[in-house]
Amino acid sequence: MDLANRVKTLTPSSTLAITAKAKALKNQGYDVIGLGAGEPDFNTPEYILEAAEEAMRNGFTKYTPAGGIAGLKQAIANKFSHDNGLTYTTDEIIVTTGAKHALYTLFQVLVNQGDEVIVPAPYWVSYPEQIKLAEGKPVIINAEEKNEFKITPAQLEAAITPKTKAVIINSPNNPTGMMYSQQELQQLGEICLKHQVLIVSDEIYEKLIYTNDKHVSIAEISSQLKNNTIIINGVSKSHAMTGWRIGYAAGSAEIIKPMTNLASHSTSNPTSIAQFAALAAYNADEDPNAEMRAIFSERLELLYDLLKDIPGISCVKPKGAFYMFPNVHEAVRQNGFDTVDNWVKALLEEEKVALVPGTGFGAPENVRLSYAVSTDSLKEAAKRIKRFVLTHQ
Ligand code: PLP
Repeated sequence: MDLANRVKTLTPSSTLAITAKAKALKNQGYDVIGLGAGEPDFNTPEYILEAAEEAMRNGFTKYTPAGGIAGLKQAIANKFSHDNGLTYTTDEIIVTTGAKHALYTLFQVLVNQGDEVIVPAPYWVSYPEQIKLAEGKPVIINAEEKNEFKITPAQLEAAITPKTKAVIINSPNNPTGMMYSQQELQQLGEICLKHQVLIVSDEIYEKLIYTNDKHVSIAEISSQLKNNTIIINGVSKSHAMTGWRIGYAAGSAEIIKPMTNLASHSTSNPTSIAQFAALAAYNADEDPNAEMRAIFSERLELLYDLLKDIPGISCVKPKGAFYMFPNVHEAVRQNGFDTVDNWVKALLEEEKVALVPGTGFGAPENVRLSYAVSTDSLKEAAKRIKRFVLTHQ
């Protein structure tokens, strides 16, 4: 079958691939510890489940407006106002089938053949693929580990060409867990304004921060930056709602309107029931993240200490999200492997611990471990990784 060129080089998401492999081994009866997952290991809060059930019973099981129900868009606008000091009207917001589809739709709307989008590495695996699917060119800049995996203004400016359409800023970051400060964002933002490069600010991990650092949206720094930014966010990570598939984008109506038109021909609308669930999530008084944050924070400390104790592994301490992104280059070399990918493969085969190689994130010396698992699993995983490293020395 002669398939379309656009899918010929498309590879499945490496995070989903490792999770699938770990599941397959589990089904064969092996005691596998999967640290590949990109989702909180908590249940969606009860009040959200109840709202979804009520929506279903009340007949909200039909098509909705393509860009989301008015009530949810308003609740998202309220969230921006309350959490980020940002004012958006409802025609500056689109609700999508997860943040992933907000990004996909955005690149389809924004990018012409050959247009460049700057992607700082380490990056979330889907950015480059989505840009390529829009016939654009991902331009990767390497955020160095010694700079806490953050790009510098000079690096950004050097990567800009007349073809640059946009740059992606993801803070807190998947896979590194690092965050940009307000000052750093301001410096990057000034360069974007100077060269008229749109900022795509992926803030999906906004609520999962474990230090005293405050999340800053680049859009809240100035009205010029707000006008030059599309924010991407959603309830997947903040409310343990990955399966419900509700995300959103906010920015100029000039971009949101064609995104909505495109959605009307691709998804029709995000699932009606899930929209009512997200509405309940945003209308709740309580802080749904407090407990989750406290538990993630404890696990972060635990895993960080456990990893420090393994020869050949070093780690920049993350501030947010629920991933650790250690550099294992030295361990891989000492253990006699040629690549991180092969080291990860052998670790899964021999010790039944599933990590995600950094290759898919544009960082071939690192691995990503998710600490969205119990502390017992983390302790056991670290024990097995250490045993693996020592056995192969
Ligand atoms: N952006 C980043 C950085 C992510 O890590 C993820 C999910 O892993 C997404 C976006 C997509 O989230 P959603 O489940 O809302 O599609």
